[in-house]
This record gives sequence, structure tokens and C-alpha cells, in this order.
Amino acid sequence: MEEVSQAMTMTAPRTITPFRNEPIRDFSDPADRCSLEEAIARARRDLGRRYPVVIGGERLHGAAQFDSINPARPSEVVGRVDEASPAQVSQALDVATRAFESWKTRPAEERADLLFRAAARIRETKDDWNALLVLEVGKPWIEADADTAEAIDFLEFYGREALRYANPPPLTPIQGERNRLVYLPLGVGVVIPPWNFAFAIMAGMTSAAIVTGNAAILKPSSDSAVIAAHFVDLLHELGLPPGVLNFVPGDGPTVGEQLVTDPRTRFVSFTGSKGVGLRINELAAKTPPGQRWIKRVIAEMGGKDAIVVADDADLDAAVAGVVASAYGFSGQKCSACSRAIVDARVYDAFLEKLVPAVKAVAVADPSVNGQAMGPVVNRKAVEKIASYVEIGKGEGRLLAGGGRAPGEGFFLEPTVIADIDPNARIAQEEIFGPVLAVIKARDYDHALEIANGTEFGLTGAVYSASEERLRRAEDEFFVGNLYLNRKCTGALVGGQPFGGFNMSGTDSKAGGYDYLLLFLQAKSISRKVAAHAADDLAAGMD
Ligand code: NAD
Repeated sequence: MEEVSQAMTMTAPRTITPFRNEPIRDFSDPADRCSLEEAIARARRDLGRRYPVVIGGERLHGAAQFDSINPARPSEVVGRVDEASPAQVSQALDVATRAFESWKTRPAEERADLLFRAAARIRETKDDWNALLVLEVGKPWIEADADTAEAIDFLEFYGREALRYANPPPLTPIQGERNRLVYLPLGVGVVIPPWNFAFAIMAGMTSAAIVTGNAAILKPSSDSAVIAAHFVDLLHELGLPPGVLNFVPGDGPTVGEQLVTDPRTRFVSFTGSKGVGLRINELAAKTPPGQRWIKRVIAEMGGKDAIVVADDADLDAAVAGVVASAYGFSGQKCSACSRAIVDARVYDAFLEKLVPAVKAVAVADPSVNGQAMGPVVNRKAVEKIASYVEIGKGEGRLLAGGGRAPGEGFFLEPTVIADIDPNARIAQEEIFGPVLAVIKARDYDHALEIANGTEFGLTGAVYSASEERLRRAEDEFFVGNLYLNRKCTGALVGGQPFGGFNMSGTDSKAGGYDYLLLFLQAKSISRKVAAHAADDLAAGMD
């Protein structure tokens, strides 16, 4: 991409350099460790603050409040968040509908500039965001840094993409007519993110909605509403006009469903579990009186992601990849490896290496030990995961973990259950915790068949030394994000557009060139012109 100079409405002209991923730190440098420790201490001094509903730029007390807590120390309240009343939800939709009328007319350069300035500010204050991620969702440090880096990446990438969509390539010339295609925003969108990439996914979904000229209502996850509130505040501080983005926290089944079903909602951008995604899809398909459009639903959902270990795989690399993918952030990534499918010829050798590696994974409060595996997000998650471990014990052989890990927080042991049938419940249902099912395959054909044998299709990986097998995986492994001889987590914006098949969602490919199109509608404009104008057009002078 060549460098282009863009005239900005809000700031001085900016040089847009080609997109590059924000580097992720591993905290081996003592200076990095020290600055994050200081940021965690700073964030702790700010705990317990109240976070209001924000509608039309105004900060409002809600109908009730809920606490967002630190899952490593549940007695530590990270923030008290106001929950929007039904009247406030309706007010937010009104305000957004009005704000849309002027925001949609702003030049793409202005909207993109806001994202670039937000990225710059987040880059300068990275450790404060990392500290919030450590405290509000229990992220280990490297995971927190990757989450913040990805938020920066989404802002930088979607800013550039908005500029690209504002300047589409010329259409095929047609004699006697001048034709062009323009991309228009859709209207008022409801953004419903999950808590697990509390910063990146929330900021990515929100920024994509508004940079394309839509107005948005962000209903954050109640487990990560404080980070979302800080992001909304930042955008307002940087000059986002009031009403373009409204912050409406609350319960999914009440606030979320009111937003989804309202006739003023034009689109819903959702990331979360399969069950909730399907419910939103169903609700949004109904057309209440007065609604003049078919709601668009972007729904990115769960996974049951597999790593296939062929008989010619480098077993050490495969074990390292499985451990990183299954237990990074306590298995709470949609891309997490929850099935290891291993060729019978190397099954025992793989387990011999895997089990000690899993037992060596330390579990601790990430605000104290940033390298360890942290807690799971809340008490409900502990109960759900524990019930799956019980099911798994009946379905296979428990080789590691299986219980609570010590501490006040929601700590669980990294768990391995082997000899699992491909159709067992723990091989089919998303657990979303540090639980790995190990499945024996007769051969490579069987391994691929098992890998494709769930309703999901999000990520997958294959470890093999064979070129032919890797190529077969490219053709036959039916997932949105396939990795060869590497872990199945850690997609990077730009390089690995992200989204899954089947019950993993609508394959929106976040962080890719197709993503912003989901927030736009194209208008084709054709004008009859005199012959000489048509000649000009043919000569490329349009
Ligand atoms: P969740 O489905 O419980 O909640 C997601 C969001 O939906 C939250 O903001 C929640 O408040 C809201 N919600 C809940 N019920 C609702 C309803 N009836 N109507 C409207 N909104 C409602 O998911 P979660 O626990 O926050 O996140 C974990 C899930 O997200 C996992 O299944 C994971 O695989 C998935 N995920 C998918 C991707 C992806 O890109 N495919 C990325 C991250 C997470």
C-alpha cells in the first residue's frame, strides 16, 4: 500500500502508513514488568468507582446497579455499573437515531481520524488498560497485552478500511452513462460483545460500527463493563459527537433483548455463545410494526476447536501448541483447543509428554503472578466447568487436574481427560474453561473426520511433517481459521481475519478486508450523460 496523505477535518493532515500489528510484550524485560505492576497498583486505587449509563453524551444514573468484580479476588469490586432502565434503553435508541442523521454525513476521514487518535492514546497508556484487564477479567499479563494490542490493531485497521471503502474502485464503463457505487451506513446498530476479549472485541465491534457512519448502542458484558465504560469515555474525550455511541449496560435477557427487538434497531453485531447468538438471530428476524427493514445480524459464536496430531508430528511442538491453546487465559477463548485428536501410533507418547506439561502450568492471581494461568471469569463459569469435568470423568480417563485450585478466586486446575469418544459430550459441547478432551484416532483420515465432527467450525490446527497431509487439511478441515504446525489461538488483525463456520457464526472475518462491508450498504448511481462526457469517462476522467 502506498502512503497517502489525508486531509483531516478534526486534526492536521495525517500520513497514513501501511497497517502493522502492534507488538506484544512477553514481560521478560524488568522495565515492562515494573510499569505494569505500577499500573495495577494505580488501578487498584481507583476500584469501586461508579460507571453510569451514557446516552447522548450525558452520564445518567440507571434503574439499578451491578458490581463488576475481580475473578481472582471476588471481594474486590472493580466498578459499580449502572443498569439502564427500559425507558433509558428507549431513550438511547431515540438519541442514536437522531445522531445518525448528522454522523452519517461526516467525511470518512474525520471518522477514521477518531479511531487513529484513540489508537495513539491507548498505545501511550497501554499498561493502564492491561491493568484493568488483569483486574476485571483475570488476564495473565501477556494475554492482557495481546488484548490491548489487538484493540489498537482494530482501531488502526478499521480506520484504514473506512478510508478504502470511501474510495471504491471505478466501475466498468458503460457508454452514455456515468456510474458509481457509494457505500452508505445502515443506521442504528446494537453492539453486544463478550467479556473474554474484554477490550479488543468490544472496541473492534464498536469502532467498526461507528467508523462506517452508523450510530451505535454498546451493551457491554456485565463481566467486563468497566473496561467498556473507559473506552466509551475515551472516544467522547477525543471528540466523538454525543449520541453517536451510547453506553447501555444491563442484563442480556432484558436490556439486550429490548435493544435487539426494537424496530429502530437496524443491525445487531453480536459476539458470544451459540445459544445467545441463535436467540438474537431468531428475535431479530421478527419484524415488529413500524420496522422498515430486515435487521442485519452479525453473530460470531462458540467453538469446539481441535488440534490434530498426526503420527509424523513433532510431538514436543504439538504438546507446546496444545498446552498454549488449551490453557492460555484458562481456556476461555473461542479459539481455545478443547479437543486434541491424536493418531493411535503416537497417542501414548503424546500423553506422556502432555500430562507433565499440563501439571507444570501454575495457577495464581495474575495481579501477583502475571505469568501464571489465572481464574475463570465468574462463579457460574466455575459451576458449569465443574459439571463438565464430572461428565468427562464418566466419559474418559482423568489424567490431570479436575478440581478447584487454591485461592479465594475462581481458580480451576488445568484438566486433561483422555480416551474420549468423538461423540462424547465433552467432545461436542463448548465448555469454555481449562478442560481438554484427548481423542484417539485410527489414522489421519479418521482424525480429520473427528475434527470435522461437531456442529462448530471456528479454529483448528494440524501438526504433521507431511506436506501432503497439510495440504489435505487445507482442503478438508472445515474451519474458519486453520493453523498448520502452530497453536490454534492468537489470530492477528490483518494477517489472520477471524470468524467461523456453521454454529461458530456468520464468519464475519473480523480484522479482515470484508468486515466493514457488514456495516454498510452499497448504492449504485447511474446518470445518463452526453456523448462527449461518456468519452471523457472512457478516457478515465470521471
Ligand atoms: P454470552 O453469549 O453469554 O454473552 C455475550 C453477550 O451477550 C453479553 O454481552 C451478554 O450480556 C449478552 N446477552 C446474553 N444474553 C442475551 C440475550 N438474551 N439477548 C441479548 N444479549 C444477550 O457469551 P460470553 O460468556 O460473554 O462469551 C463467551 C462466548 O463467546 C463463548 O461461547 C465464546 O466461544 C464466544 N466468543 C466467540 C468469539 C468469536 O469470534 N467467534 C469471540 C469471543 C468469544
